[in-house]
Amino acid sequence: MKYYPRRLKYIIWLYFVLFALGIMCVVWFLQLVLANRYFYQTIESSMITTGRDISVYYGNMIGNPNNDKAKEDYEASIENARAQRSFQVFVANGDDIYTVGNEYNGVIGSAYAYYIGHGGPEDGYCDVLPNEAKEELYVYINRIGEEDGSPVYLVLIRSLQSIKDTSNMMQRLLGIITLVVIVIALVISIVISASLANPLSKMTSTAKRLARGDFNVKFSGSEYAEIRELADTLNAMKEELMQTAILQRELLANVTHDLKTPLTMVKAYAEMIRDFSGENKEKRNKHAQVIIDEADRLTMLVNDILNLSKVQSGMDGLEIERINLSKLLSTVIDRFSSFLESNGYTINSQIESGLFAECDAKKIEQVFYNLIGNAINYTGENKTVEVFLTVNDGKILFEVIDSGKGIAEDKIDTIWVKYYRASDTHQRPVKGTGLGLSIVKAILEVHGFRYGVISRKGEGSNFFVEFPQSKG
Ligand code: ADP
Repeated sequence: MKYYPRRLKYIIWLYFVLFALGIMCVVWFLQLVLANRYFYQTIESSMITTGRDISVYYGNMIGNPNNDKAKEDYEASIENARAQRSFQVFVANGDDIYTVGNEYNGVIGSAYAYYIGHGGPEDGYCDVLPNEAKEELYVYINRIGEEDGSPVYLVLIRSLQSIKDTSNMMQRLLGIITLVVIVIALVISIVISASLANPLSKMTSTAKRLARGDFNVKFSGSEYAEIRELADTLNAMKEELMQTAILQRELLANVTHDLKTPLTMVKAYAEMIRDFSGENKEKRNKHAQVIIDEADRLTMLVNDILNLSKVQSGMDGLEIERINLSKLLSTVIDRFSSFLESNGYTINSQIESGLFAECDAKKIEQVFYNLIGNAINYTGENKTVEVFLTVNDGKILFEVIDSGKGIAEDKIDTIWVKYYRASDTHQRPVKGTGLGLSIVKAILEVHGFRYGVISRKGEGSNFFVEFPQSKG
């Protein structure tokens, strides 16, 4: 068996898992890189604004030594920074800077050194500094004024431990989420790929059975519309194939049967001429005529079979042109004229002139010929057939009406079937093969024209065809 790589289900699994991994990568990137950066920036800007506020209140207090309100405001600003921002706040003059905040193991001293090293920036110095306990600290330092001739510094410290803890917890959680997401993606992809691939695999094995000639198969779809549509199409194709196979079998059976009778006759009469009537001119002519008639019948039969199978198989492409139907119909009626004269039949026609339609002239001529021929064959005692070509509701309507014995209601559909012939010993003036109406049907169906028959037993028949009018 041939192996097909890239099976649908593996591809779906792969894409789903890649998709889940992709999403998780984005989440991890946000968490590992952007989230930390965002936290640090937020802390830094809040330290700078808090530092600026406290320094303003400090300046105000120093400027107004007797103003209790200024002192209270300054203290409140420090309290605020502690309570609301979780900052440690130290105010120390230059001499104390190395000793203040001892618990931070000299971090303040290093921050001071950086601050001085950076030329004492106006907005202060703000950075992450590790202390000896390896705990990361965000430290802000700035000069906020002077007392007794020595500079006073404000120091803000924020431990990053809680942020680190949260970030670690988030990472563990993300790890679990990543696993869960991948498992879910895998499960969903397995379900989807199974529901997609299984019906397709089933269809493949059904198609293989069909290919082996087993027509007792049925393609079943799934809940997906596209697959159901495919199953319906394959079922329709199977029906077509089955029809073609039946048709072929029937054709072969019918052809052999239909060819056999005239051939037997030809052989029998040829032998009769050889053995008996050879010398008798009159008899010989009679027998020879039978042979000629049977040969004609054979030719007609073979032509009809060929015609039908060509139209039905679509081999004989349509040659669509703008045709003057009125003229075409008159020509067909003329073809019957010598026959009508010699057999006493009449065709009363009412043909509106200048009616055009887009169709294949040769094939429509055949339709007219077959339908009029049938009407002559089956018309009643009055030996009259009526033919109309009129415009009705914007369409060209062709009707051929006879006064014969009509068609029984339950046979109306069967008459279009190949080789169907009413089981009576009807004498036909125009010879038929039982294929005339199937040819009509096949031709009109490839054109897509509406056609039919209105008939009642004992009351004659009205065969009609509707042509879309071409106004040109
Ligand atoms: P054929 O006429 O050679 O038998 P057709 O395919 O033309 O083959 O017609 C099939 C059958 O339909 C005929 O045998 C006949 O029973 C019936 N039929 C066709 N035309 C008419 C008609 N105008 N009136 C009554 N029966 C008809």
